[in-house]
Amino acid sequence: MSIDEAVRLTLQSALAEHPCGEGDTWAHVALLQRIATDPLLRGLARGSTTIQQVSLSASPYTTLTMRPHTSPAVVLLRDYEFAASHRLAVEGLPDEANLALFGKCSNPNGHGHNYRLRVAVDPGHGPDALAVDLDAIVESSVLQHLDHKHLNLDTPYFSDRLPSVENIAITIHELMAAALDGSPLSFVGVRVWETDRTSASTSDRV
Ligand SMILES: [Zn+2]
Repeated sequence: MSIDEAVRLTLQSALAEHPCGEGDTWAHVALLQRIATDPLLRGLARGSTTIQQVSLSASPYTTLTMRPHTSPAVVLLRDYEFAASHRLAVEGLPDEANLALFGKCSNPNGHGHNYRLRVAVDPGHGPDALAVDLDAIVESSVLQHLDHKHLNLDTPYFSDRLPSVENIAITIHELMAAALDGSPLSFVGVRVWETDRTSASTSDRV
């Protein structure tokens, strides 16, 4: 049996068992777990083919991925946006030297980016996880502090590190880890895009 055929048959039976309404993230988690553990797909994986990852786009801003042999198996990815300005420069260096080091991002008066943020959590911790409002936590722990701010001047996070995309990802990772400490949603990591071509992540699951 071909992969296409096995996936089509698996989807038919899984969707019949797990009808999902739009925005019903937890029904999508159940559907993904059902697909990824389907005997037909697992049987196919016993040959020369192995299933590395199954992904389900539940909405334009929500993706679920499953790696059957990894812990956590299922990861929920949720996307957000914020706009912020910054300046990349080593203090004390002349503008020309900073321009050589950081290019246009060293413009003395700063400049803006529309950042995209993806937050990854492990949703597999029982019914308590249903009650967690991830959007509200990201809003109060991250977006309120960074959105429409000058990262160098308006936030306390970059006094001792440059607001590069790598350090923005590390900063948001730290904020989210603290916000989800003790929560039934286990935090996995983040990815931040500065442009479509440039991003940084703190986990290979994001
Ligand atoms: Zn920049």
